[in-house]
Amino acid sequence: MKLLVTGGAGYVGSVCAHVLVEHGHDVTIIDNLSTGNREAVPAAATFVEGELREKAEPVLAEGDFDGVVHFAARSLVGESVEKPEIYWQDNVVGTLTLLDAMRTHGVENLVFSSTAATYGEPETVPITEDFPTAPTNPYGATKLAIDHAITSYAHAHRIGATSLRYFNVAGAYGGIGENREIETHLIPLVLQVALGHRDKIFIFGQDWPTPDGTPVRDYIHIRDLADAHVKALETNQPGAHRIYNLGSGDGYSVREVIDTCREVTGHPIPAEVAPRRAGDPAVLIASSAKIKDELGWNPTRTELRTVVTDAWNFSRGLGDRAHSARRG
Ligand code: UDP
Repeated sequence: MKLLVTGGAGYVGSVCAHVLVEHGHDVTIIDNLSTGNREAVPAAATFVEGELREKAEPVLAEGDFDGVVHFAARSLVGESVEKPEIYWQDNVVGTLTLLDAMRTHGVENLVFSSTAATYGEPETVPITEDFPTAPTNPYGATKLAIDHAITSYAHAHRIGATSLRYFNVAGAYGGIGENREIETHLIPLVLQVALGHRDKIFIFGQDWPTPDGTPVRDYIHIRDLADAHVKALETNQPGAHRIYNLGSGDGYSVREVIDTCREVTGHPIPAEVAPRRAGDPAVLIASSAKIKDELGWNPTRTELRTVVTDAWNFSRGLGDRAHSARRG
């Protein structure tokens, strides 16, 4: 397929772009490089630097696109609380521009990068797709608004679409891992301690209603996540918008993550308890039963140790040697 991948220079977008290239697809990437890295773009992809709002129409006007995989977005919860206007502009207005360009140029296959933040603070876990959506921050609200827009575009304009609601994405693939200028995520921060770039990791609260008092999350390996995008693209049906959760199905506490990082790295990783972080829910665990049943998605890297080991190899600059070797 000839595919447009928006945000294909970011962590998730670039790994998915690599996997799509491996599957033989012809990939064009639009990315403004605000948080992405030019080096993460696959060599075989065409790269267009710029804002989605400006580039979506002219790129799709080139013709012959079979589908769009849409990652381009602002995605920091804290920043979305401080500056909601850029989230509504870049995420929602950007996506509406993209959807209109798809209509204009007859592109009818869409996969959208959505998030567990659309559910807010669930009363029980695991979270299924029929749980109420009640985002607790503007980031989640913009992603939910986009999901609603896609539903109505799909029904009215025959677009076949899938929204994938990610839980905590981690790990590395193809020499690409988490490599952000401003890092806020647990696993890369803990590994920075093991690398000697930080003295210690702060645990944001140990008085949560969980077995060891620290929050529990569902960590999904980036490669398993990428596979779900390929399956979604291959099975979209005109006029239907499907929504699937994507997680490993297992929850790990902050302390369990730190312990696993200690085992994998052999570093003591000092940790200190700090106050809770605003907006954090206690427990987020996905049910991914629906995508497994309906699309045959079969994650193979569900062990936390595998996720951490791949992230650690990336952090140490090793990347994914097996994959590099396969690419020859
Ligand atoms: N966390 C922590 N210390 C850190 C970063 C994160 O204790 O330096 C906790 C955070 O409170 C949350 C979990 O680790 O409970 C996962 O946070 P992350 O930012 O990786 O992902 P989120 O679940 O917020 O999307």
